[in-house]
Amino acid sequence: MELKDKVTAVKGVGPKMEEKLGRLGIHTVEDLISYFPRKYQDWTDITPMDALDTEDEHVVYGRIVDVREVRPRPRLSIITVVLTDGRGAVNLTYFNQPWKRQAFDRGQGILAYGKVEYVYGKYQMSNAETISARPEEIQSLKKLVPVYPLTEGIRLQQMQKMIAYALQHMDTIEENLPSRVRMKYHLMERKEAVYAMHFPRSWEEQKRARYRLAFEELFFMQAGIWLLRKKREQGHTGIKCSPDGKLMLSVMKNIPFELTDDQKQVLVDIESDMEGLVPMQRLIQGDVGSGKTVIAALALAKIVENGYQGALMAPTEILAAQHYKTLSELYDGTGICTELLTGQTRASEKKEILSRLASGKIDILVGTHSLIEDPVEFAHLGMVVTDEQHRFGVKQRERLETKGDNPHILVMTATPIPRTMALSVYGDLDVSSIRHLPPGRQPVGTYAVGRNMLARIYRFMKKEMNMGHQVYVVCPLVEESEKADLAAAVSVYEELRTKQFPEFCLGLVHGQMKAREKDEVMEAFVQGKIQMLVATSVIEVGVNVPNATIMFIYGADRFGLSQLHQLRGRVGRGKAKSYCILYSDNTSEAAEFRLSLMTKIQDGFTLAEKDLLLRGSGEFFGTRQHGMDDLKVANVIRDLPILEEARKAAREEISHGLDVKEELARRFHGEFFSRIYH
Ligand code: ADP
Ligand code: MG
Repeated sequence: MELKDKVTAVKGVGPKMEEKLGRLGIHTVEDLISYFPRKYQDWTDITPMDALDTEDEHVVYGRIVDVREVRPRPRLSIITVVLTDGRGAVNLTYFNQPWKRQAFDRGQGILAYGKVEYVYGKYQMSNAETISARPEEIQSLKKLVPVYPLTEGIRLQQMQKMIAYALQHMDTIEENLPSRVRMKYHLMERKEAVYAMHFPRSWEEQKRARYRLAFEELFFMQAGIWLLRKKREQGHTGIKCSPDGKLMLSVMKNIPFELTDDQKQVLVDIESDMEGLVPMQRLIQGDVGSGKTVIAALALAKIVENGYQGALMAPTEILAAQHYKTLSELYDGTGICTELLTGQTRASEKKEILSRLASGKIDILVGTHSLIEDPVEFAHLGMVVTDEQHRFGVKQRERLETKGDNPHILVMTATPIPRTMALSVYGDLDVSSIRHLPPGRQPVGTYAVGRNMLARIYRFMKKEMNMGHQVYVVCPLVEESEKADLAAAVSVYEELRTKQFPEFCLGLVHGQMKAREKDEVMEAFVQGKIQMLVATSVIEVGVNVPNATIMFIYGADRFGLSQLHQLRGRVGRGKAKSYCILYSDNTSEAAEFRLSLMTKIQDGFTLAEKDLLLRGSGEFFGTRQHGMDDLKVANVIRDLPILEEARKAAREEISHGLDVKEELARRFHGEFFSRIYH
């Protein structure tokens, strides 16, 4: 039997089972043996019957003292098997499985595995799995049993059998890591690891097997990311800029504050990239309000000083307009010519901008994704800056890049990425971080509240609005559906507008409004015509309204910590003390814990790290582009130490000439692979 054979090559797998396995993504023998357990039943650890707790799954061993079947209704059979180990008793119950009765005899010794409940004063396990065993046999039966995620119509034992069969009858599982790597990092052989991952003889062995398989995955992922990076660098000579001259100095003079140490460091990183031979590929990550824009402005000025044009692309019209304003102020009197191009730019004006751009009269073009449209042509584009990168796909960014000849690339994001993620998500970009906010910012007072506080909170909002401040209200994410979100937002809006705050002017924005309508409401809020902005969770990224002092979030327990932090970053931008109020009816321990983190932690990086640990990387943007979705064993957050070793090894081996194309093709589907080998 070969790895690429269809699963029907496994004994007992017919067309029906093939179809069911297909639902789990298992089509070949290889898929089957790569379908690793979600967890293991630990049959090695027998719990005495007076030490059970009802939260957990346990293994018990006891003698059967009674077997009985009752049939309370014609079609209902309940079998109860009473086990005792001398210290306590457990009832095993089976519903509607009358044949089970034959499997149990009084006096017989039974190992049983299952979740323990406490019912009518007795410990009980429903549908426990059992093995009949004499006391002297127990030792040899102690083992870890793999548990697989299943689908309807496949039982656990069937899955175990199929996998065991495949493992036993397989030709071979070839080693795919160079022996040098295996020796250096003390890795199990591949074949051994696959076996041991399914049927480990001890936790120790399971750990080593998992380590090896996670290493392997991360090794190839990092190899791919490394190749991607090399591909960008190879044969691409960048625009080699000169050290700062007069123009840069005059822009610097226009900055009304002193740069923070972090900002200075990022600027040093950028300038040394730009003065080097290889085009810059750099990500700046910095919390909302950390001051990324001024850095972008300086980088763009530098490219202009060196005789090239720059582009700055933002995800929304408002943001583009804000950037345009900021840049125009910073470049005031320096002679740098900046223009704004968005979907709202009038046709005649657009035509003029395009022609001045193509003739090189415009130095810097700021805009939305209108910038990547076809008619936009630069005379000599030397730098592309994209803000809030995750709003754009990598493809969109690359489309802008091709409008120049190997331009320098700068990506800005306010979604803080812990080092772990940066290594794996952005392995192909260099990362600079602005970790500290400019001085003088007050922390946003953050409070988690429940229903009993609502009346007080509304009074507080009134007070703030009467003082001339503004308020954001974010409505709950109801579920995946946008429609439900909208309905919730509308009803909150109506309630607030008519009942709670009739004397104020409220506005509503939601995801189903046209961009222009949304922008109109946002603009009214920016200008202070609206005092309270009610929004679904899609509030425009990064709007700057320093006069807003309250961020009120309904159903805060439904949001991720990073998302809450982003929302909180909308306030606290002005001189007045600001507040973030997290409203939730969810009194579960987990929800309260998460919200309490928000009240204690102001730093976005720390929160993002906690968030990733609590929720996993699944919701992170961009992961698809870097093969993370294809990982089966490794977890890029928890396995950071493995990731770092695998990364080192991958770089070494690739520079020794290891060819990984075939492995990457097999492992990584979609964009990740095609970006490397295209
Ligand atoms: P973001 O990183 O979220 O894009 P911005 O660039 O919009 O942040 O900056 C937020 C605010 O902080 C702006 O009003 C900007 O002028 C101000 N700012 C930036 N850097 C500094 C600094 N070093 N000192 C004081 N204020 C600063
Ligand atoms: Mg910004």
